[in-house]
Amino acid sequence: MGASRHMSVDSRGRYTPEVAGEVLPGSEGPAGSRSHNLNSTRRASLMQEPVLVLNATYEPINVTAVRRAMVLMLKGVAQAEEMHNTEVHSAAHAHRVPSVIRLLAYRHIPQQSRALSRKNILLRDRNTCQFCVRVFPSSELTLDHVVPRSRGGRSTWENLVACCYRCNNSKGDRTPEEAGLKLARRPRPFTLHTSRQLMRLIGHRDERWRKYLFY
Ligand SMILES: [Zn+2]
Repeated sequence: MGASRHMSVDSRGRYTPEVAGEVLPGSEGPAGSRSHNLNSTRRASLMQEPVLVLNATYEPINVTAVRRAMVLMLKGVAQAEEMHNTEVHSAAHAHRVPSVIRLLAYRHIPQQSRALSRKNILLRDRNTCQFCVRVFPSSELTLDHVVPRSRGGRSTWENLVACCYRCNNSKGDRTPEEAGLKLARRPRPFTLHTSRQLMRLIGHRDERWRKYLFY
């Protein structure tokens, strides 16, 4: 089975790893790992924990959530390189939670800025509303055009920011100045350098990421 159908490439041929809306199929869970009884809230937040994605060459290329990482593993697209000492339980099986996964087939990744996408903007802005500077889950954030589209504002890295619904409503069809709002920082393009910096920030609490990111 090829990995390519789990990856999307935008119109300019740029790479965006993406596995959306998939359900974990049954599989044999790894044996002998420590089991924790997780309540559903903890389980839900655990499934959103960040997982470092390495290319087949061990080059760090992306950060995804546990849920997506497990789908890639179960489909044989990736394998776990580092694991947490926790498990999640599906109906019949226990699955150890990955911390770092590696793609089994090499993916060519152009050395240029990443595709403009909602996911990458939230990642760049670290899931922080750029007006009230509070951190939200992705589902509670939208993208705001700093200069509104009605004023000729474009959909670019420099004009799109993560924004909570409340700030988005109060800003409406105005510029930040007109709405009395201030941007936490100037939105920048997402480069390979910021990408690596972000991976380090996201992974600073997980020492399993260190050897892949700090060298
Ligand atoms: Zn806000």
